[in-house]
Amino acid sequence: MKQPADAIVQALKEKGLRVTPQRYAVYANLLSRTDHPTVEHLLQDLNQDFPISSQATVYSSLQALREVGLVREVLLEEGVSRYDANVDPHHHFRCRHCGEIEDIPWNCFQEISLNNLRPGLEAQTYEVTVSGLCDHCQP
Ligand SMILES: [Zn+2]
Ligand SMILES: [Zn+2]
Repeated sequence: MKQPADAIVQALKEKGLRVTPQRYAVYANLLSRTDHPTVEHLLQDLNQDFPISSQATVYSSLQALREVGLVREVLLEEGVSRYDANVDPHHHFRCRHCGEIEDIPWNCFQEISLNNLRPGLEAQTYEVTVSGLCDHCQP
């Protein structure tokens, strides 16, 4: 889904972020894809038409975008951070074979009751990760 440029600038400004070319490029790139890229994936993609990015600048742009809630970090594999510009509540499907991650709409499952947690735990959020095989990886 391509967003118009001024909508992206507007979103950054509304969150009080200074609009830098790096932040703009990182956010625009994330908005245009649904595959939950890693920093390395983002860097590869950005450097094709924007050859000024280093891993450090992409990483610090991601941190800034995360801090204001425009981007979230998705941790579904040990030691691998992926990034998602969909910050609305949703679940994830992860392919065990190729590692592909895709969003599952929040209303795909019935609401889970958090009332049976042991006393003393206060639940705030949850999300479901479904593990399996994607279309391409099924025999
Ligand atoms: Zn797969
Ligand atoms: Zn997601």
